Amino acid sequence: MQQSGNEENFMQPLAYRNIDKHLPVLPPKGEIYDECGVFGLYKTDGDEELNGISITHDALLGLQHRGQESAGIAVNNNGEFSTVKDVGMVYSALSEKALEDLPDGKIVIGHVRYTPLNLLDSSGTQPLIIRYIYGALGICHNGALTNFKELKDKLEQGGAIFQSYSDAEMIAYIIAEQRLHAPSIEDAIIKTMHKLRGAYSLVVSSPNKLIAVRDPYGFRPLCLGKIGNSYCFASESCVFQSVGAEFIRDICPGEIVVVDSKGINSYFAYEQNAENKTSLCMFEYVYIARPDSVIDGISVYNARKRAGELLYLEHPVDADMVCGVPDSGLDAAQGYAAASKIPYGIAFIKNKYIARMVSMPQKEKKKRLLNTKLTALAANVKGKRIVIIDDSIVRGETSKHIVTLLKNAGAKEVHMRISSPPFLHACYFGVDVKNEDELIAKRMNTQQIAEYLGVDSLGYLSCESLNLIAQGAKVGFCDACFSGKYPLEIPKEIFVDKFSEKIRFTEK
Ligand code: SF4
Repeated sequence: MQQSGNEENFMQPLAYRNIDKHLPVLPPKGEIYDECGVFGLYKTDGDEELNGISITHDALLGLQHRGQESAGIAVNNNGEFSTVKDVGMVYSALSEKALEDLPDGKIVIGHVRYTPLNLLDSSGTQPLIIRYIYGALGICHNGALTNFKELKDKLEQGGAIFQSYSDAEMIAYIIAEQRLHAPSIEDAIIKTMHKLRGAYSLVVSSPNKLIAVRDPYGFRPLCLGKIGNSYCFASESCVFQSVGAEFIRDICPGEIVVVDSKGINSYFAYEQNAENKTSLCMFEYVYIARPDSVIDGISVYNARKRAGELLYLEHPVDADMVCGVPDSGLDAAQGYAAASKIPYGIAFIKNKYIARMVSMPQKEKKKRLLNTKLTALAANVKGKRIVIIDDSIVRGETSKHIVTLLKNAGAKEVHMRISSPPFLHACYFGVDVKNEDELIAKRMNTQQIAEYLGVDSLGYLSCESLNLIAQGAKVGFCDACFSGKYPLEIPKEIFVDKFSEKIRFTEK
């Protein structure tokens, strides 16, 4: 039966928003950003008392670290979609009043998003809802397609029009197109997967089904949980605990898991991917994911701790205290301290309550934030030889500031250790690692970086050791931004200049 969607903002013209009043000022590090977190819930008959909207809201709060620039929830009530979404963090984009006004439904999907500032527009906020001949389709995406331009060019030549620049809209469009020639939504998704290249972990709602999809390389995590008799999907397992769900398992690379009134089913789009390998992003373990998540069988906390242990084996140093840069350097610091037997201590206090700043130029904002977000704990640092552990150095500005804070607080020596290898290459799979020209390791060797930062010594984890931190995972890894070995071919036009808007959006 054909059913229709009802999404309030669907036909609104593309409008750039005054982002300043909505946006948090600083994504996690100010230099590396992940691009999105997804969640979906299917309420099984008998579980009507579950408040799907509240569960999804809480899940998005748990995924907030994956994207802070827009948030949204869509409820599917027998094929009728109602959506609340806006730019901003979960607490500001999804007001209590707006959520109270949302009708309940059997399927609820949610999304938090990061996008480079120059691409921020409200038309790209998710969940994205499209209407087509088989009713409505809601979609939430985490990742990045490497063949976006190729697909867009082809579809536009056939008359397609798009209202956003997002991969999600492209994927939804292709699913709708493929559905015309496929007996079911599952078949349409399988056909769609054969057209997509790159990273995509999706939560999709058709009128009657909730569907989770992970690309054949498994770049981004995606997992399955259970609340009562109902199923849910999330980017990271950490949210299951906070919404009262039980972790069931990871969605496998190339897998499609479908939940409907008949139960839960799994399909695979490929027997194996083209290169017969999987490529989970190593940076999920190093920095992106929450330490209380387990990805493809490996605890993120344990992986970070292991990185710290290996870092000590590769770069030992005599010191009085090992400290981590909050938050993602803390676990590796514990590993380094355990391996070195140097006491672990706290060097920084993080201000947890910075959410936004009064209007001022971006550069000034960043400077002010660096000064207000972290302060050194002089009482614990003064006169000591400090080993400071961080997860990465991108442009070097933040690291330099951290070293200055320690020195100003009276540290006698500062030895910096980084729990990942030097960033040398851009990411095309959903993490906004800056333009290669901006990467400090591209321009300077380790000694020069140490001098620039003002540290007494500097050591990075090697690529070999990085690949050991999640040993035993059920998947292979991508470490391309460190090694330059991309798991799949990157089309020349995006390889040349990843961040040029012209690549995706130039008018012909
Ligand atoms: S290139 Fe780096 S950030 Fe991108 S998916 Fe690979 S490991 Fe992750």
